[in-house]
Amino acid sequence: MKEQAARQDRLEFNKLQKRLRRLVGTAIIDYNMIEEGDKVMVCLSGGKDSYTMLDILLSLQKTAPIDFEVIAVNMDQKQPGFPEHVLPEYLTALGVPFHIIERDTYSIVKEIVPEGKTTCGLCSRLRRGTLYDFAAEIGATKVALGHHRDDIIETLFLNMFYGGKLKAMPPKLLADDKRNIVIRPLAYCSEADIIEFASLKGFPIIPCNLCGSQENLQRQVIKDMLHTWEKQHPGRTETIFSAIKNVSPSQLADSSLFNFVDLLADKNAIARTDTDTCSTIEPFVSKPSIVQFLDAGDILESV
Ligand code: SF4
Repeated sequence: MKEQAARQDRLEFNKLQKRLRRLVGTAIIDYNMIEEGDKVMVCLSGGKDSYTMLDILLSLQKTAPIDFEVIAVNMDQKQPGFPEHVLPEYLTALGVPFHIIERDTYSIVKEIVPEGKTTCGLCSRLRRGTLYDFAAEIGATKVALGHHRDDIIETLFLNMFYGGKLKAMPPKLLADDKRNIVIRPLAYCSEADIIEFASLKGFPIIPCNLCGSQENLQRQVIKDMLHTWEKQHPGRTETIFSAIKNVSPSQLADSSLFNFVDLLADKNAIARTDTDTCSTIEPFVSKPSIVQFLDAGDILESV
């Protein structure tokens, strides 16, 4: 009985690992994240996401048709209680080359940010700056961050609700310093899968909030909203992520992305049926003529 349960657990774990490998591999190919000869600096915070990213990248490295290097880098920001032995011990046992950068950004953040305000914004900026400098110093050609699909979607809504911008977190980008290409190999992976994988692997997790800071309250609001949606409409998170990959600038209102000003009618075009009036919602509406009598709210409700 016990043996059967253990076999079942192993099967489940293998399925999960396979799924994560496939999703990471697909994201790498879709965005050309890793190329022959790359030196990939994997930023390791000690959280579930970065441990998972490192684990999957190392496993893909063994079977990939290209050669690339993986170097793990952690930044010890000198938060009180940071268990500095954990990562070096883990990485040594794994046999992966690594660096620990020591920078007391904790004191800087405490000095600058007023008491009671969230410190994460400044803390992450300082961390990012140091990591990017280090990547240039060691000649890393890619900087890998552990953000996953749910982080990307939350950022989309945060920017929309609180910043008035339609932007998320790209799977690959040229960093602001213009010296580094940042990649997010977990871009297609759900947080739920990562939580499960991290727990089954028993990674020695180091909590980020040792500093006593609270997670950004606005992000928590968005997280709760997305969880409620997902519960009420299973699959909605995936659909939102598909939308991020499937953008129609001509159906939005940003004139820097689409030239609305010079839009001209083609007088020679053959007269078309009114199905064209609703081409953007075609996949969801089978009787286009009815759509003319609905407002956008009705259409969205019906999706
Ligand atoms: S929780 Fe603390 S260590 Fe983590 S990002 Fe926020 S301020 Fe930095």
